Amino acid sequence: MAKKGALIVFSGPSGCGKGTILKAYQQKENPLYFSVSATTRSPREGEVDGVHYYFVTKEEFEEKIQSDGMLEYASYVGNYYGTPRQAVEEKRNEGYDVILEIEVQGALQVKKSCPDATMIFVLPPSLSVLEERLTKRGTESPETIARRLAMAKEEMKKAPLYDYIIVNGELEKAVEDFGAILQSNRLKAENQKDILEEVLRYDA
Ligand code: 5GP
Repeated sequence: MAKKGALIVFSGPSGCGKGTILKAYQQKENPLYFSVSATTRSPREGEVDGVHYYFVTKEEFEEKIQSDGMLEYASYVGNYYGTPRQAVEEKRNEGYDVILEIEVQGALQVKKSCPDATMIFVLPPSLSVLEERLTKRGTESPETIARRLAMAKEEMKKAPLYDYIIVNGELEKAVEDFGAILQSNRLKAENQKDILEEVLRYDA
C-alpha cells in the first residue's frame, strides 16, 4: 500500500501569488494533487468548472455542508468556498501530497480536524505591492479590490498561527522556500517510520 500523502494547507491574501508559486513548483518538481474547491462565486474569464473550481449554487453548497461532504468551508467576500472531503482522502490514501489553497478561516478548521496538516502562509513583501498586483490583474472592480485589501490585512494578522511563512518578493526564492518546507516535512521522524522499520529489519 502507498504511504499516505501529506496534507498541505497553503494560505495568503488574494493577490499574494500563491497560485504562481504552486504552478512554478509543479513545473519543476514532483506532481502534487491540487484539491479542487467548490465556490458560489461566478467564474472569472478562462476559469473552467471542475478544473479551477466547482462552480455551484448556494443551495448546492449548503446541501454539501449538511451531508458532511466538506472538509472545511468559509464565507469570503460574500461567497462560499469549501474543500470537498472525499477527493482529499482518496488522493492522500493513494500516496499523493494534497494541497489546499484556502483562506484563513477554513485553514484553521483544517488545523483542528487534521493536526498533521502542514500549514504554510504566503505574505506579499508589502501592502502596496499587494494592491498593485490586485489592480494589475484587472479581474475585479475597485470596490472588490478595496474589500480584498481590507480582508488581506486581517488575514495576515493570523499568519503566526501557521507553521511556516513564505515572503513572495522574488518568485524563484519563494518556490525554493516552498520546496524546502515540503522536503523538511518528508524528513520528519513521524513520516519516516517505514524506512526506520526497514533499516532495523536488516539482518546480517
Ligand atoms: P478567489 O475568489 O480569488 O479565487 O479566492 C478567494 C479566496 O478563497 C482565496 O484566499 C482562496 O485561497 C480561498 N479559497 C479558495 N478555495 C477555498 C476553499 O475551498 N476553502 C476556503 N476556506 N477558502 C478557499
